[in-house]
Amino acid sequence: MNKDTDERDLLRLLSGMTRLMQGCPEESDILNVAWWYLPVMFRNYDGQLHLPDSPTGIQSTSLQWGPGTVFPLLPDPDFCPAQRKGTIVMAGDQDCPGCIRTGDWGCCVPMPFHDQSMGMLRLVQNAGKEKSLIKNKDRILGLVSVVAESLTLAIDNLRRNHLLEKASLRDPLTGLFNRRYLDDCISQTMSRAKRFEQEFGLILFDVDFFKQFNDQWGHVAGDEALKAIGKFLLKNLREGDVPCRIGGEEFLVVLHDCNYEDALIKADELRRGICQFALKSASGQRMGLTISAGVATYPVHGDNFKKLYSRADRELYKVKKINRNQIPKCNE
Ligand code: GH3
Ligand code: MG
Ligand code: MG
Repeated sequence: MNKDTDERDLLRLLSGMTRLMQGCPEESDILNVAWWYLPVMFRNYDGQLHLPDSPTGIQSTSLQWGPGTVFPLLPDPDFCPAQRKGTIVMAGDQDCPGCIRTGDWGCCVPMPFHDQSMGMLRLVQNAGKEKSLIKNKDRILGLVSVVAESLTLAIDNLRRNHLLEKASLRDPLTGLFNRRYLDDCISQTMSRAKRFEQEFGLILFDVDFFKQFNDQWGHVAGDEALKAIGKFLLKNLREGDVPCRIGGEEFLVVLHDCNYEDALIKADELRRGICQFALKSASGQRMGLTISAGVATYPVHGDNFKKLYSRADRELYKVKKINRNQIPKCNE
């Protein structure tokens, strides 16, 4: 293989890897692509990729090829000069703390992003006999830097997309789904219920006297109460049921495969659970919280979301008129 062929092979590999990584839906898929390409591109080198684990943020070895014995230590991001300064450090450099076996040709290439370190790629020449695609060390350094940059961009892109996706479907205060998600979810729920001739329920509930709660305990305490409701719903619903915050202190829960009686039982369970919250004010006083709810089920109360929602809203209005801390009586 002559030099030009080597060069072309490498460029093809690099562009193939970058293209595949950009289409990956998960970080583990990006790592799989890297795991496939990097040992081919850096054939005579042992390598390691270090990324912070999510959600702990602690850096670990996410990918390794070659026997790995040339890396006696895991790099510590707080002391690693490559990551602290954002520059390539060669094994044996004055700054190098020795986490690459000395005497080998090797380098640590940081993966900086904005002001932070996203991780690091390490490469050490091994004793392999196989023909390497590249021999010139400067070109290796150039290539490994481009690879580190491609990985950084692919991972950052994916993380951003996930954040955006989450932000556009979730209410930031409570972590529950928002109205936009509800619109999508309802049309799917409706068509599935029609196709499989299933029932489903809606519980619409509203926090009682919440204006008074805010006035008495403060807006921050009000926010904490809404957050506690979000946490409670996420913990106390079946998988597949959909809790949404649809307005200030108004929530809607979609209960899959559920009839009216069971929806009423669930609504009362939520009501009882919420009024037992042990929320404490800054001065240690108990801050009582109650809700009232309206319930509607498909198909008995309507064959579209508008009818179902209006039914649940009317029920809620009715119980609020009589009292608070209530759900409707079963009268169907
Ligand atoms: P009712 O029992 O009739 O529902 O009375 P209410 O006081 O709960 O109803 P009202 O509609 O009069 O007041 C709703 C209150 O909810 C007023 C508003 O300040 C508060 N609220 C809405 N969104 C938020 C929020 O995100 N955080 C906090 N702390 N309060 C909120
Ligand atoms: Mg309200
Ligand atoms: Mg209210």
